[in-house]
Amino acid sequence: MTHVSDNPAAARFAFDNTYARELEGFYVTCKAAQAARPRLVRLNRELAEELGLDAGALDSEEGARIFAGNETPEGAVPLAQAYAGHQFGGFSPQLGDGRALLLGEVIDRNGHRRDIQLKGSGPTPFSRAGDGRAALGPVLREYLIGEAMHALGIPTTRALAAVLTGEPVFREGALPGAVLTRVAASHIRVGTFQLFAARGEQAKVRRLADYVIDRHYRELKGHANPYLGLLERVCDGQAALIASWMHVGFIHGVMNTDNMAISGETIDYGPCAFMDHYDPATVFSSIDIQGRYAYANQPRIAQWNLARLAETLLPLIDADGNRAIARATEVVNAFPEQYERHWLKGMRAKLGLVNEEETDLNLATGFLTAMAGKKVDYTLAFRYLADAALSQEEAIRALFADPSAYDLWSGHWRARLAREAVAPLVRAQAMRRANPAFIPRNHRVEETLSAAVEGGDYAPFATLLNILSRPFDDQPEFATFAEPSLEGQGRYQTF
Ligand code: AMP
Ligand code: MG
Repeated sequence: MTHVSDNPAAARFAFDNTYARELEGFYVTCKAAQAARPRLVRLNRELAEELGLDAGALDSEEGARIFAGNETPEGAVPLAQAYAGHQFGGFSPQLGDGRALLLGEVIDRNGHRRDIQLKGSGPTPFSRAGDGRAALGPVLREYLIGEAMHALGIPTTRALAAVLTGEPVFREGALPGAVLTRVAASHIRVGTFQLFAARGEQAKVRRLADYVIDRHYRELKGHANPYLGLLERVCDGQAALIASWMHVGFIHGVMNTDNMAISGETIDYGPCAFMDHYDPATVFSSIDIQGRYAYANQPRIAQWNLARLAETLLPLIDADGNRAIARATEVVNAFPEQYERHWLKGMRAKLGLVNEEETDLNLATGFLTAMAGKKVDYTLAFRYLADAALSQEEAIRALFADPSAYDLWSGHWRARLAREAVAPLVRAQAMRRANPAFIPRNHRVEETLSAAVEGGDYAPFATLLNILSRPFDDQPEFATFAEPSLEGQGRYQTF
């Protein structure tokens, strides 16, 4: 590919910044801080190509300067987005990007508009007491987990680059500072709607809703009630998203309304982690004292967040307040059923089922019940089920200290499989595409981050990233990466 430039090494972005152009008042333009010594730690070449960027040109000192915020690429309009949000149930009327800057939007090779954002690039008017910076550990964590989610087929923001700033950030002690470049369908959140709704500025909420429909839900243009349609679409997207989290044992950790993207992508990887042994009450985040965002609460919390979105749209849905409430409530109340539909669809695939039968819900929950309270590894249990479908049950039975609960359940499962005319090998193959062998195991993530942060050694990060990019392949040379920590998940905490 050639690019038109005086400087042959120039990294060019074909920015087209609709957010900056169309949503004045929803952001503050702002400059990134100058990093002392930007150094590229990782460039996501595959994603760069997908975005129509020149990966070769970006894999350079110039690329490091751009991804640190030191150099503003032509056409970028760096801005901090304004939003509000419910955090752990309490409303904050003014949040906003306190340490992130949207550089702009590009159209990717598939014709999709994508945001390019720097996270950790210095203070903004929304930083309040924060320093606007990010530490290397959390930057690499977001990189790793976001890319793992993408490889698992789950809608997510992605990591384009990680750079070191060459300056320390101060948390409990001094840590290496870093900037993550994040790519998203958009960074519009439930909290973006809440910002102006809370101030009673309905015209602004309408402008945002129209923008979102134009950007994400074009099919709603000309819809009888596009704003009700918008609510329906966002609810359905979240129902599908949360179901996919539940399928792989992902726990977001901070499902505040400002961390829920209107596009249906997973966003803002903070204290998130994957569950090892199946336990619906699993919480890893040190700040989630009450377990509000525990594994099994996620669908309920998503619905609660969507009710907050619905509130912001009421005046747009119907001029008659009571009618607006009735219509929006109906949509939000349908969430559990929608969620269950998505969840069951994915569970059928995980259990190797092709047809739909009434009792499938019981069969799926029955497997979870068989695992509950027995420290059975969730990911391995489903992965080994593919072997069990070929009558090789040693591995799965060995996950249970007392396999009788499994044996009882598998009798029902086998009877159910027998009612489908699918060749066993074909079924087992399909099951391996639905049940990953590799998830970001907590102890592996920690090992990788410590090697980078404490030892300046990025080889483990590269290895883990590579393994997690093919989660459904056996990769026998990395078999130990499929295993949970010997210490179990009991003491694991995220920050
Ligand atoms: P989060 O918990 O990461 O979703 O962030 C919640 C809010 O705090 C957002 O408005 C962030 O921009 C802001 N924030 C988080 N970390 C920092 C920081 N180091 N400096 C300034 N603002 C921050
Ligand atoms: Mg956030």
